[in-house]
Amino acid sequence: MSLPPDGRDMETRIYDVSAFTEETLRLADLHGDREARRAADEALAAIGEAADALRRGGLVAFPTETVYGLGADAFCEGAVRKVYEVKGRPSDNPMIVHIARASDVAMLTPGLSPDMVRLIDAFWPGPLTLVAPKRPELPGAVTGGLGTVAMRMPDCAAAVELIRRAGSPVAAPSANISGRPSPTRGEHAVRDLDGAVDVILVGGECRVGIESTVLDVSGPSPTVLRPGIIGPDDIAAVIGREVGMDPALRGRGEALADGAGAAAPKAPGMKYRHYAPKAEMLVLEGRRDRVEGELSRLKALNEGVGRKVGVLLFDEKAFVEAAHGFFARLREMDDEGVDLILAGALSESDSLGFAVMNRMLRAAGYNVARV
Ligand code: AMP
Ligand code: MG
Repeated sequence: MSLPPDGRDMETRIYDVSAFTEETLRLADLHGDREARRAADEALAAIGEAADALRRGGLVAFPTETVYGLGADAFCEGAVRKVYEVKGRPSDNPMIVHIARASDVAMLTPGLSPDMVRLIDAFWPGPLTLVAPKRPELPGAVTGGLGTVAMRMPDCAAAVELIRRAGSPVAAPSANISGRPSPTRGEHAVRDLDGAVDVILVGGECRVGIESTVLDVSGPSPTVLRPGIIGPDDIAAVIGREVGMDPALRGRGEALADGAGAAAPKAPGMKYRHYAPKAEMLVLEGRRDRVEGELSRLKALNEGVGRKVGVLLFDEKAFVEAAHGFFARLREMDDEGVDLILAGALSESDSLGFAVMNRMLRAAGYNVARV
């Protein structure tokens, strides 16, 4: 994985905006809390500067409830191209466009189907991305040349304020160098992007910790292209009919080897090896007691030959915690110089377990052993 060739020599302005939350704003406004007001005002000034940078065609990393995003004005083609360059992201991997008001979808897509209206009402702001036909005015660079656009409204006060002040929808993939684990804390975005972008807004830990559910509503049957915390059953309950799943999601990485095969995923980004820690990673699946036994055995064996081993084992039913901590643990283990990560699989019958497993398997390059 290489760093961007030309992009490490900028002066990046880094601001802490963690005080800009619904909670602090409520304290400041409703209860006249002066300290909260001062902190919120400082954060607001930083967000204003970041919005100026976006308006001038610059790049800004910012927190959302899922993972940190690296944003550019979606209607400024030059800025959008810089995002691909800085991340080292393949240009056929389209970006999600973030908006500050649900009604701004009209700037991106020509008409809203009844399903879309219901889903927007039920889940926005929140971690559900909708893929629908794009307006011709939106630069093709944002959508990787596709005729559809992915859109969402984040559930994060600082992100919404940034987009609102930028005065334009913001195209933003995750704020990591392509292939690295997604950033769920400000320091992760700083580590990957300091010196390569105009502003980084640091806003604490992302609440969800994995990227949004991507749902394609451009065709006759809504289909999940990337699993997330909002599961197919949650979506089906809102639209009153079944929700499909991109068949590539059930595979075990065949599309990585053969992106053009029958199992090629419909979300272009899902065909790349992703989220990869520097360490080799092995996922063990099977009954919990056996997994635990095999983990200890392999750990001892590898440590015996001088390798540093990290273990990634979440409580069996703690899917929310697993989603929250997954990417941060991968980065921590890289920082600790771990050579081998041994991970215990989560149950894929739970939809959030399935979503975390999608990331875990791809992080491991589908290196799985059944025990
Ligand atoms: P990221 O921006 O890193 O969270 O990745 C966004 C994901 O959404 C990638 O997997 C993209 O391939 C996918 N995506 C974005 N736009 C579209 C689209 N128009 N059609 C299908 N998938 C999309
Ligand atoms: Mg990403």
